[in-house]
Amino acid sequence: MKKVLFLLFSTVVIAQQSNHVDFITALGKVTINDTSKIVEGTVEFEFKVLNSIDTIKIDAQNMEFFNVKLNDKPVPFINSRKEIQIVFPFVKGNNNLTFDYQVKPKQAMYFLGSKATNDLQIWTQGQGKYTSNWFPSFDDVNEKVVFNLDIIFDKKYEVLSNGVLKKEFNQGETKKWEYRMEKPMSSYLLMLAIGKFKKQTQRSKSGVPLELYLEEKDSSLHTTTYKHTQKIFDFLEKEIGFPYPWRVYRQAPVKDFLYAGMENTSATLFNTRYVVDAIGFKDRSYLNVNAHELAHQWFGNLITAETGTHHWLQEGFATYFALLAERNIYGDDYFYHALYETAQQLKFASRTDSIPVLNPKASSLTFYQKGAWALFVVHETLGDKNFKKVIKNYLQKNAFQNVNTQDFFDEITKVSKFNTEKFSKLWLETTAFNTLEANELLLKNKSIQELFEVNKLKNTPFQEKRQYLEKVMQSDVYFKVKEAVLSQIQKESWSDKIKLYELALNSNNTSLRQLLAVTVSNIPENFRLQYETLLLDASYETQEIALTTLWNNFPNHRTRYLDVSKNWIGFKDLNLRIVWLSLALATPNYVSDQDNLQKELISYTSPIYEASLRQNALEQLLFNQILSDEVLRSLVNATTHHAWQFSKFGRDTIRKLIKNSEIRIVFQTLQPTLLEQERLQLQRLLNE
Ligand SMILES: [Zn+2]
Repeated sequence: MKKVLFLLFSTVVIAQQSNHVDFITALGKVTINDTSKIVEGTVEFEFKVLNSIDTIKIDAQNMEFFNVKLNDKPVPFINSRKEIQIVFPFVKGNNNLTFDYQVKPKQAMYFLGSKATNDLQIWTQGQGKYTSNWFPSFDDVNEKVVFNLDIIFDKKYEVLSNGVLKKEFNQGETKKWEYRMEKPMSSYLLMLAIGKFKKQTQRSKSGVPLELYLEEKDSSLHTTTYKHTQKIFDFLEKEIGFPYPWRVYRQAPVKDFLYAGMENTSATLFNTRYVVDAIGFKDRSYLNVNAHELAHQWFGNLITAETGTHHWLQEGFATYFALLAERNIYGDDYFYHALYETAQQLKFASRTDSIPVLNPKASSLTFYQKGAWALFVVHETLGDKNFKKVIKNYLQKNAFQNVNTQDFFDEITKVSKFNTEKFSKLWLETTAFNTLEANELLLKNKSIQELFEVNKLKNTPFQEKRQYLEKVMQSDVYFKVKEAVLSQIQKESWSDKIKLYELALNSNNTSLRQLLAVTVSNIPENFRLQYETLLLDASYETQEIALTTLWNNFPNHRTRYLDVSKNWIGFKDLNLRIVWLSLALATPNYVSDQDNLQKELISYTSPIYEASLRQNALEQLLFNQILSDEVLRSLVNATTHHAWQFSKFGRDTIRKLIKNSEIRIVFQTLQPTLLEQERLQLQRLLNE
């Protein structure tokens, strides 16, 4: 209740300020200390007072301020620890505000690795975390400012920020990077990232430089990680019909990123899980995220939803335009089946989810997928030509400003008789999924028609449909239809379904074969040889599933399976190596000396690795009941990690373990050797 009241109150204050003051530019000169994790900077704001006001406010969390000057003269200010308030009888006109600040950010800026181990990365995340934790700025998305950052750091590193890199100066061991923007944006899109990055630059058809960064050590993965990037860019620029709004577009993967990707203006950051080789690309391609974050450069960055209620104007649009970009690469069948699958998810969710799209509290599924579906409905109903006209006009009219759903509807109404009110009620204001209209649109695609035919047979006795299903499996129909066949026959007897399973394996489609690998958990001896062929699939995920399932099913063959897979590595999070170590440890007598395997597995729990690898390793150690001091210490360290999934994993696991009184005592004896933050977290868990 208090929170709600507070939010209402702050909205009122913000609304008042933006009526009185318009911030035009911000120039920051920022130095970051990677050991103390302190940010020091000088900021210069240019702003226009529209109507007289006695206080202006800039969001700034837990900062200290020095040399605060208004138009070159010292000015009184209040530091509320949440904002800096400048107290002055402001009258209409232009002003210049400068000050120095210092802060140790509590969130929104993250430090990974270290210079000593040559793997330091520093990166920021504004959306959901607030840029005002590291740079004085505006939590209100409606205050758009032209941001320019000068960043000073060790010259052996690369520093990325928004906009064009105008100049670089070496100053002894340090270097100054000067990044400049020309157009305004909301503060949550401000970014910086520091690391041992190397770029490859491509150019879009329209001439925009596309800077593709990777860490130096991953340079061999450039082509596979960034596959189709230029094609996506050229496609979206043409499809959207409004030129890419910024001067440059750069992308970089960062360690232990909180999300899949973040569309900081002209400088997207994404998760290292998408840094892949040609095999990894099959299961963890960056392509969809790549297109999604790029689409946000228009839908989100050029035009920004004025409140959370209209969040679908960002996420629904980015999701839909990413799907269009994928359609351009993978074809119509891919597009329609993706929509079919999200329709299934939305239908399922609508049984319990009562929060519709136009609500700031809607789920991600609703904002992203229901939003995308709603836009698909608009696209199909208006027709491609009118839809493109609407999108273009909508962007032109609102460029570099904030928008709400009515702004979009206004453009629709100008080109067609489309009933926006009815549409809004059906797609944006209710959680019920409009299956009737959705199916009508989906069934325009032939392979969806075939899918529906297969699904109609769900309750038909197997012998009556056997021939038909075999025919489908042997046809060249889209593989998703064949997947539906596999899902449908799961409960049939082995003698009935084995022929269809064999046909699936013979399809040579890695996705279909992967579904089979997942579906079959108990393998009869007469299917063993066929199932073993999955071990050799060009998919790290399929290999992991096949190895584990075979090891579980055939104890007599374990040695052979482990021999085949002993040099496997897998994705960058070493999924195959980790599972191999675990299975080798769980196979008595496979190696004479288990110590080395154990040591290697434990080494992957170290904080020098990313959370995904550490968690994989910890899970396998727990599976093997290896609970050395080092393992327990790694678990405690996990509870202090910035990625909530990993810290939750650490807490949940410790909670389970300390139910055992012996392990509880071991945790207690570890306490004096822990870092302060670790000790606090552990103490809290022991006290529960
Ligand atoms: Zn998004």
